[in-house]
Amino acid sequence: MAGTLYIVPVPIGNLGDITQRALAVLAQVDIIACEDTRTTRQLLKLLNIQPRQCISYHEHNEKQRASLLIQRLLQNLNVALVSDAGTPILSDPGYVLVTQAIEHNISVVPLPGPTAFVPALIASGLPPVPFVFVGFPPHKKRRKKFLQYMLSFPATVVCYESPHRLLKLLAELEQLDAGNRRACIARELTKYHEEFLRGSVSELHLLLQQRSTIKGEVVVVLEGAPSKATNEANVP
Ligand code: SAM
Repeated sequence: MAGTLYIVPVPIGNLGDITQRALAVLAQVDIIACEDTRTTRQLLKLLNIQPRQCISYHEHNEKQRASLLIQRLLQNLNVALVSDAGTPILSDPGYVLVTQAIEHNISVVPLPGPTAFVPALIASGLPPVPFVFVGFPPHKKRRKKFLQYMLSFPATVVCYESPHRLLKLLAELEQLDAGNRRACIARELTKYHEEFLRGSVSELHLLLQQRSTIKGEVVVVLEGAPSKATNEANVP
């Protein structure tokens, strides 16, 4: 019999967001596969958990580590996958491991828990359903195409972006005729300086240009493209 692969979300800022179930799983599993073992060890210390074994599993060793972890799972060991913050696999490593576990008929148990895009979406004031989560826009190659694609969905769009590329992103969206789209920037979610900035893309661009720096982590929520049905309904 094989072990179980648990996918365990961890807080994105506020330690109080760890779930009882996550605590129990992290305390019990044989191996914790961590994006960065130092970051996870610090977290486990704060949570008073003594891990049996932590091993690194990050984007640069993902394939090789996935094979090793599959071997361990097939030897009936239980494994928890965590990332530095939030839910693994969502703009974080883990997809390779999960697909391989499924191929080997290993039981995959995902725990619900912290992630950045859900709180950003539900507090944005934009329609929460339907929505599309697109992760990080690419930095250079294909960025424009990606943004055009992102703007084409008739659904609220949620993306991640680094704070130092945020002004660039807003300027690019304006250049792509999305300046009037409603948007929300959710910054430092669950942390002391949590902030929601709401307005049109152009208004938010202007507002943020007036700040000397943009600190912390951000999620961008953007109004979707007008749906075909809406367009047709609007035709006089
Ligand atoms: N797997 C994580 C999740 O479930 O949200 C996301 C990891 S991704 C590498 C990191 C990005 O998530 C950041 O650049 C930011 O866009 C977003 N993020 C993470 N924590 C955040 C926070 N506390 N406030 C706002 N955005 C956050």
